[in-house]
Amino acid sequence: MKKHSNIPIFIPELACPHQCIFCDQKTISGTHTIPQPADVKDIVEQYLETIPKNRTINIAFFGGTFTGLPIELQEQYLIEAFKFIKRDRVSGIRLSTRPDYINVPVLELLKKYNVTTIELGAQSTSQEVLDETGRGHTVDDIRDASNLICKHGFELGLQMMIGLPGDSYERSIQTAKDIVSLGACNTRIYPAIVVKHTALEKLYYEERYTPLTLEEAVEWTKDIVHIFEKNNISILRMGLHPSDELVIGKSLIAGPFHASFKEMVMTQIWKELIDAELQSLNSSFSDKIKITVSDRQIHYAIGYRQTNREQLVSRGYNVRFEQNPSFSHYQLNIG
Ligand code: SF4
Repeated sequence: MKKHSNIPIFIPELACPHQCIFCDQKTISGTHTIPQPADVKDIVEQYLETIPKNRTINIAFFGGTFTGLPIELQEQYLIEAFKFIKRDRVSGIRLSTRPDYINVPVLELLKKYNVTTIELGAQSTSQEVLDETGRGHTVDDIRDASNLICKHGFELGLQMMIGLPGDSYERSIQTAKDIVSLGACNTRIYPAIVVKHTALEKLYYEERYTPLTLEEAVEWTKDIVHIFEKNNISILRMGLHPSDELVIGKSLIAGPFHASFKEMVMTQIWKELIDAELQSLNSSFSDKIKITVSDRQIHYAIGYRQTNREQLVSRGYNVRFEQNPSFSHYQLNIG
């Protein structure tokens, strides 16, 4: 199967009429220059020079509510991107938007220009969470938009956030299950964090909102990953992208942000797999063990900062990890 590459074109929505309490629109729109439709050509050309041959390449308009832009402006961006599709230099276009900005005329426009994937920021399928978070749309909007997108033959992506005000473990699990039943092909899982200059920051300082701890976020995400993997939904991202603002801590006030969030989740998944296997082998086993896993998973099996290896050592095992390229994703052998 060909590998995929996206050419990202970040279009933050200026003057977004909504007030999601976790979002700092000012920083988003103030720290990024917004590429104009005429800039699309140069951006794409530059990326194409760096992308290896034999890849499926998409132009990805993300960062805002693409379909909330004036329709003429949407079309101008799409025309520029479509020129690359016509010349066979990219395969398709993907974009992100809100569930309440999807309707038939919009989808017809996107179809005309070969948009292949539409990602909706669903965040939660609990109406209480959507209300407490000030999303300004309903669960029915998510359902209606998802149905329309699938019916019109687009690939559907549904992004979710965990640990928002009003959220619980059960509600996040239900959101993941709903994302499956709504027909999503891919998803992104973002733990909610408290960012400077947001309404959530105020709630946090008033002690009316407590973000998840990093351990809780890892634990919830681990269980959500199982649901998506069982249903063949690609997880395009776990955890927020480590931007300078977050890594240096300029904007981050509190919450489960970690640059290696995915690695931590995968470490936990492998910890459970190894423990279950050891338990099934029980006392018939010596303390000297060799754990064999696929080469693509070995660093997760050993664990973030070797935590899985160290835990086994602290339990008295003399452990060695080995990789086997012929092993499948979660295949594991302890010998
Ligand atoms: S997260 Fe909410 S407030 Fe922020 S740009 Fe998106 S829709 Fe607007």
